[in-house]
Amino acid sequence: MRSIEVGILGATGVVGQQFIARLHGHPWFRATWLAASERSEGRAYRDAAPWRLAAPMPDALGAMTVEACTPGRGPQLVFSALDASVAGDIERAFAEAGHIVVSNARNHRMDPLVPLLIPEVNHEHLGLLPEQRREKGWTGAIVTNPNCSTVVLAMALAPMRLFGIRAVIVSTMQAVSGAGYPGVPSLDILGNIVPFIGGEEEKMESETLKILGTDGGRIPYEAVVSAHTNRVPVVDGHTMTVSVDLVGKPSIAEVDAALRGFSSRPQELALPSAPVPPIIVCDEPNRPQPRLDADRGAGMAVSVGRLRPCPVLHAKFVALGHNTVRGAAGAAILNAELMVAEQGHLVMW
Ligand code: NAP
Repeated sequence: MRSIEVGILGATGVVGQQFIARLHGHPWFRATWLAASERSEGRAYRDAAPWRLAAPMPDALGAMTVEACTPGRGPQLVFSALDASVAGDIERAFAEAGHIVVSNARNHRMDPLVPLLIPEVNHEHLGLLPEQRREKGWTGAIVTNPNCSTVVLAMALAPMRLFGIRAVIVSTMQAVSGAGYPGVPSLDILGNIVPFIGGEEEKMESETLKILGTDGGRIPYEAVVSAHTNRVPVVDGHTMTVSVDLVGKPSIAEVDAALRGFSSRPQELALPSAPVPPIIVCDEPNRPQPRLDADRGAGMAVSVGRLRPCPVLHAKFVALGHNTVRGAAGAAILNAELMVAEQGHLVMW
């Protein structure tokens, strides 16, 4: 297949850098256009974006000039890692101008006509796009990926839909990289836990039900989710402890088998970013841990461990995923891969 040119809105931020790193050498996509705020506009990427990843900045991209987020200027397919304070309007303007916007930002996630996509969980929600175009009058489109904690929870719950999910209680331990750069001040987080992340609990509670729902997410899944979200002094990787009430009252062995056997459309299509398996079940009694497990499956796998009976609900476990990869850039790239594989060349929609 000829490589598809892509642009990155918000290319200079934490997630933007992950896009650059993960698109370097991608078999289908080639980053040819980088955009950010007026603070970065006109500067070489290497000067505008102080590089914060262990993988080196690709030379060719470092020399590229950062442009303004002007609709119509970049390639048809653009990834968005824009700050939420500006993402809503900029992404809409790009969709109106004919771009396919594959976004990380929260702004359009709960719009009933915008897919909130996890390819392993609800690939069929892409079916919303023709209606989105018709109703909104856009020549382009917007597709979003979930909040970085929600994606981990929804992936772990997906195999349990088989038994019917009635109630979920989740407590997160979220990495500081989830707050962008410079993020949480060191004096607030070192040797400490901050038991509040603005808007995060509401996002986990609502986004999960849209993702697991039907009719493109317009009929939310019938369950109740209660989330507690906490910021902890970890660099990368959101960990969460989850208790779940399952209608069919399966044995723990049955839940374990459902998790281990889980595979879906991205694996079937052998998409370049699809982890195999998508869920890694840890057998060690003290795993998953962020330092040891966040990078599994090239940062795209969700690790689950400590599956055991819950005396209050039915079963309980620990889940972990990489917040800037599976929770952001990697998730959006997998979304775009699915869109290409399922829909043919993007311009055909
Ligand atoms: P970040 O490091 O603060 O980067 C924000 C980006 O937005 C930068 O490229 C910045 O450009 C650009 N920007 C800010 N104001 C702008 C404006 N007025 N016009 C155009 N561009 C502007 O944030 P991040 O952590 O990468 O997060 C990016 C998005 O992804 C956010 O919506 C966030 O909620 C979401 N997200 C983040 C994570 C995570 O784990 N970090 C996970 C999931 C989703 P300049 O450098 O030029 O200012």
